[in-house]
Amino acid sequence: MNLLIMGRPGAGKGTQAFNIRDYYKIPHISTGDMFREAIKNETKLGLLAKSYMDKGLLVPDEVTIGIVKERLSQADCKKGFLLDGFPRTIAQAEALDVILNENGVKLDAVLDINVQPEILIRRMVGRRVCKSCGATYHVEFNAPKVQGICDICGSELIQRKDDTEETGRNRLAVYDSNTAPLLEYYKNQNILKTVNGDQPLEKVFDDIKVVLGA
Ligand code: ADP
Ligand code: ADP
Ligand code: ZN
Repeated sequence: MNLLIMGRPGAGKGTQAFNIRDYYKIPHISTGDMFREAIKNETKLGLLAKSYMDKGLLVPDEVTIGIVKERLSQADCKKGFLLDGFPRTIAQAEALDVILNENGVKLDAVLDINVQPEILIRRMVGRRVCKSCGATYHVEFNAPKVQGICDICGSELIQRKDDTEETGRNRLAVYDSNTAPLLEYYKNQNILKTVNGDQPLEKVFDDIKVVLGA
């Protein structure tokens, strides 16, 4: 299964991507995670990405498209994949179509986790992520068993630098202007599946399984 998960910042893409990855046994490809890894390793890509991410702006298309193209060419994507956070612009979506075409595959479904903007700032500000396995928690809505510690691997939980109220508002505005038009793009391809993301985590995943028909 070749999938794409979309939604506003904080909608629950990463959280549901973990569930989908485990359930459908396909690799989870998150451009945000790839950029954060590059920042951690202090690579040239990381340095560049950081200057945009800290402001809540998009990393330039040509850079982002390049890393996704490279990732999709790896062997583990042959059995399917789940893209998360890419594409985020029409230019990226068109580039993705070209890449998939070259690889002789296509997207089976685009999941849109739909959440109204009002509650998303609270979701972002309370988000905590495991610094080693990437699991996502929330201080109110999905708290770990022990405060500050990952339930799965026992590592420390950290707060993303861009999860502030101000940067969060910028990211929501960038979504509206650059990313929202993609919903129409995929609707026209008849592969858009919308799920209500303003429900408990488990219920959102149940709905995802229903729309994917498995
Ligand atoms: P995204 O990848 O779309 O930015 P995340 O999956 O990281 O979103 O979720 C953002 C925050 O909201 C996290 O702290 C997560 O634990 C929390 N969250 C995710 N889904 C829900 C939900 N259905 N209800 C309440 N909180 C949620
Ligand atoms: P969220 O899940 O909260 O939307 P992500 O982890 O997907 O956050 O992305 C964090 C940041 O990484 C974005 O605000 C942006 O700066 C950068 N980024 C991630 N994916 C892309 C992309 N496809 N194009 C450009 N920038 C991206
Ligand atoms: Zn962990």
